[in-house]
Amino acid sequence: MSLPADYHMHTPLCRHATGEPGDYAVRAAAIGLTEIGFSDHSPMPRDDFDNWRMYANQLDEYVEKVRRVQKDFPDLTIRLALEVDYLPGYEDWIRGLAARHPWDYFIGSVHYVSDSWAIDDPQKLSEWEHRNADEVWTAYFDRLTMAAETGFFEIIGHVDLPKKFGHLPPSDCTSLYEKFLNAAKKHNCAIELNTAGLRKDCREIYPSRQILELAFQKGVPITFGSDAHAPKEVGINFAEAMQLACSVGYQESCRFAQRKRQTVKF
Ligand code: ZN
Ligand code: FE
Ligand code: FE
Ligand code: ZN
Repeated sequence: MSLPADYHMHTPLCRHATGEPGDYAVRAAAIGLTEIGFSDHSPMPRDDFDNWRMYANQLDEYVEKVRRVQKDFPDLTIRLALEVDYLPGYEDWIRGLAARHPWDYFIGSVHYVSDSWAIDDPQKLSEWEHRNADEVWTAYFDRLTMAAETGFFEIIGHVDLPKKFGHLPPSDCTSLYEKFLNAAKKHNCAIELNTAGLRKDCREIYPSRQILELAFQKGVPITFGSDAHAPKEVGINFAEAMQLACSVGYQESCRFAQRKRQTVKF
C-alpha cells in the first residue's frame, strides 16, 4: 500500500510555520511520499484581518516559491493550492483569488464563526468560555455547509475543527453533519483526513469516525493532509489516517491537477 498525497502543508509566509518549501519536499521524499501540495493560508482583502496568513501582496511570491520547489524536485509531484478561509460575504474575493493563478485545488476551511472569532486560534481560547458549545458547533457547520455550496472548493478542510481544544458538542450533531455532507456530495467536494487533530487537545484525526462513516455512506471522497507547519510534520500519522479510512470502507483517495479530480486506489 503506498502513501496518499499530503495535500495540506503551509509555508513561512503565513507567519506561524517554519521551514522553507524545499525542506518540506526533502522530508516528503525521505518518508516515501510521491505527491504533496502546498496549501498555505489565503490572504484576506485587509492585511490586518488577523496575523496568521500571508499579506495580499505576497500571493505571487508564494506561487513563485512553490514553482521553484517544483523545479528543484522533479521526481516529486508538487501541487499548487491554497487553504482558503470561507466567510459569508467573501465570495468575490475568493473568486478573484481563484482567477489569479492556475491552482491545482482549493481547500475551503472555516475558522471564523464570526468576523472576529477564529475558533481554533489559541489566542482567542477564552472566547469559548463565553459561548455555548452547541451554538458554536451549529454556527460552524452552517458555514461549512455554505462553503461546500459555493462550489469554490475541491476539498473541505478539517471538518470538525471545533473539537480542537476539546469543546465537544453537548448534544447530538448528526443532522448538522448530514446537511454538510449532503452539500459536499452535491457540489463535488472531497473532505480531508487531517492528522493535525492528533497533535491537539482533542487527540484525534479530523474528522471523527462518526463523520467519516456518514461521508462514506454518502459517497463523499477523501484526501489526506498533515496540516504541516514544520517540515517534520509532513505525512505525519498517515498510517493511522489510512487505517481509519480503510476501517470505514474507503479504498481510494483523490488527486487534483488544475482543479480536475482523479481517483487513486490505496
Ligand atoms: Zn496555520
Ligand atoms: Fe485550517
Ligand atoms: Fe492548514
Ligand atoms: Zn489548517
